[in-house]
Amino acid sequence: MTTKEEFIERVEKWSTKIGVNYKEIHFRHMKRKWASCSTRGRLTFDPEILEKDRNFQDKSIVHELLHFRYPNHGKMFKQMINLFLNEGIE
Ligand SMILES: [Zn+2]
Repeated sequence: MTTKEEFIERVEKWSTKIGVNYKEIHFRHMKRKWASCSTRGRLTFDPEILEKDRNFQDKSIVHELLHFRYPNHGKMFKQMINLFLNEGIE
């Protein structure tokens, strides 16, 4: 179990590493997905993600943050996800 504070700290570390800025983080239950992002820089995560393991959380965080650079799920987007997840932030 991860606390919201720990989770937010991780999002901050990842955003620094990736070089993108976000404005706000919200936690809200979502039916079909774990996270979403808005073009205004708002990130939303389903609070149940706090019960998932760190790898799962990182995948979701990196995915959403990279959408601030790539608004689609194209080849480059997927390559960047793999690149960052391989490197990690530890
Ligand atoms: Zn996506």
